[in-house]
Amino acid sequence: MPKIIILPGDGIGAEIVPPAVAVIKAVAQKHKYQFEFEEALIGGAAYDQTGHPLPPATIDLCKNSEAVLLGAVGGDKWDNLPVHLRPEVGALLPLRKALGLYANLRPVQVFSVLADASTLKPAVVAGLDLLIVRELTGGLYFGEKKKEAIDGGYRVVDTLVYTTPEIDRVAKLAFELASKRGGKLMSVDKANVLESSRHWRERFISLAKEYPAVALSHMYVDNCAMQLVRDPQQFDVMVTENMFGDILSDLAAQLTGSIGMLPSASIGGQVSLYEPIHGSAPDIAGQDLANPLATILSAAMMLRLSFNLETAAKTIEQAVAAVLADGYRTGDIMQAGRQQVGTKEMGELVLARL
Ligand code: NAD
Repeated sequence: MPKIIILPGDGIGAEIVPPAVAVIKAVAQKHKYQFEFEEALIGGAAYDQTGHPLPPATIDLCKNSEAVLLGAVGGDKWDNLPVHLRPEVGALLPLRKALGLYANLRPVQVFSVLADASTLKPAVVAGLDLLIVRELTGGLYFGEKKKEAIDGGYRVVDTLVYTTPEIDRVAKLAFELASKRGGKLMSVDKANVLESSRHWRERFISLAKEYPAVALSHMYVDNCAMQLVRDPQQFDVMVTENMFGDILSDLAAQLTGSIGMLPSASIGGQVSLYEPIHGSAPDIAGQDLANPLATILSAAMMLRLSFNLETAAKTIEQAVAAVLADGYRTGDIMQAGRQQVGTKEMGELVLARL
């Protein structure tokens, strides 16, 4: 029986993951699929119990599963630990590396009934359907780091490293994804300043010859940030390096009304990992305020990409659309005249519509 590892993590992770698991179970029952679930520790919760934010047992379980569903990690309580024990650096990054997850797919889709929940004008975001492909295991987040004492303070170094194979594999994936969508690929870089970006751009130009049906363009990351709020509909598939993708996808999340709406899939290895793009939101944790829809939509991505269950994935997405169409909102996407509900109730409303 296919095994799914559940990693709730920290903060709102413990609140948003159970509704998503309940949705997978319900949809599996409806479509007569069987999954085995096993929960494991990650993040600050794992550090508190085992002394490490990514216990070896968690890595082993994930490697021996078919898919992983993650909530979020991190929080003030663990911010002052040595950097290698902090939940993000000590758990999230090594887990991605251990599973070989070199690409993070972040679909930015605006549900029509939420077009006026965005802080941008509805005409700018209505119907938006953009896919961001973020390189996930290279670049600044994985390069060598240093902190050396010097006269007057410290000399601090982060290193931005990419190799040709690292660029090529994410480029090929992005070209393939673009060829299955609108055929437009925007590669985002900072080639006017960074050597790594210049090579990134060279490789994309070279590989484009293998994908004649895809129209490749390039944009500097600073301009891209501006274009995403000016006219996001100009984009079909966007691909970029790790840190640029981290920043641009949070920006893009706000186009949909809330970061609580955006799912993601990290792929590239044998086992893929699905998680909302937001963090552990300590400011609202434990208060039944978090929006579980990004995690529920991540579960839909899991069924589609890891298990090839397109109908089941669509069932979940349609249930989410139906709940929103019926006027239910968590606080982050609340609008006048709609009914505000908590995390648990939002999960139950989705379940009821499956
Ligand atoms: P965050 O994404 O946790 O929160 C940013 C803002 O969005 C907050 O106001 C929060 O309340 C709100 N928000 C986030 N998710 C929401 C949801 N589902 N429903 C409603 N509102 C939501 O980012 P942050 O505050 O910068 O980071 C908090 C912690 O999470 C930090 O420790 C950070 O390192 C960590 N983090 C983890 C991940 C991850 O696990 N993948 C990603 C980003 C940040």
